[in-house]
Amino acid sequence: MSIASHLQSIKEQLPAHVTLVAVSKTKPVSDILEAYHAGQTIFGENKIQEMVTKYEALPKDIKWHMIGHLQRNKIKYMAHFVDLIHGVDSFKTLKEIDKQARKHNRVINCLLQAKIATEDTKFGLSFNEIEKIAASSELNELENVKISGLMGMASFTDNTEQVKEEFTRLNAFFEKLKTDITSRTGEIQHIEMNILSIGMSGDYSIAIACGSTMVRIGSAIFGQRS
Ligand SMILES: *Cc1c(COP(=O)(O)O)cnc(C)c1O
Repeated sequence: MSIASHLQSIKEQLPAHVTLVAVSKTKPVSDILEAYHAGQTIFGENKIQEMVTKYEALPKDIKWHMIGHLQRNKIKYMAHFVDLIHGVDSFKTLKEIDKQARKHNRVINCLLQAKIATEDTKFGLSFNEIEKIAASSELNELENVKISGLMGMASFTDNTEQVKEEFTRLNAFFEKLKTDITSRTGEIQHIEMNILSIGMSGDYSIAIACGSTMVRIGSAIFGQRS
């Protein structure tokens, strides 16, 4: 099957409120163009340098999402064009994004990455740490970032019950935070809970059932990465 037909069959399974990020990391520009010509305009990459190279080579109406772990010293290279940064896992990183965004007179949308998996290898913040950031008065000073929601990755396991439990826990926290923030409108700025970025090729159906509003799908569209 072609990229276009894989894309089509995934889109048919997504409810209208779920946004598809086509994860094109390691894949050539020609593959991205094929998806783009089939109507896909949001692409996700996990390395800043690779995303910059692709941004420069491809149509400018593409929206680029950074989904990988962030090296703070490289944020400056994408600050002029990145549409959404999914993997923010410290206040220090948020401050650097703000600083770089200000140079371009932009507001960069960010998601805080929550740690929900049991493995040690997954980056992310605890729910406690997220609540601290959401409540910090320092956030009000960051005029050039907006936290738009949360991102999470489930454990790498075939145990669908465990994946479901992890996504359900994150969704409950997301909803609670949304309520807290809404009740303090005016007091806290630069944070909203609109986006819950959960779900990849292997678990997007579960994620959607657990409240996902954004799925990040790579191999099910572009094929396995070598
Ligand atoms: C690679 C990656 C994806 C996509 O993974 P697939 O299993 O290929 O769909 C999603 N999210 C993140 C953070 C990734 O690094």
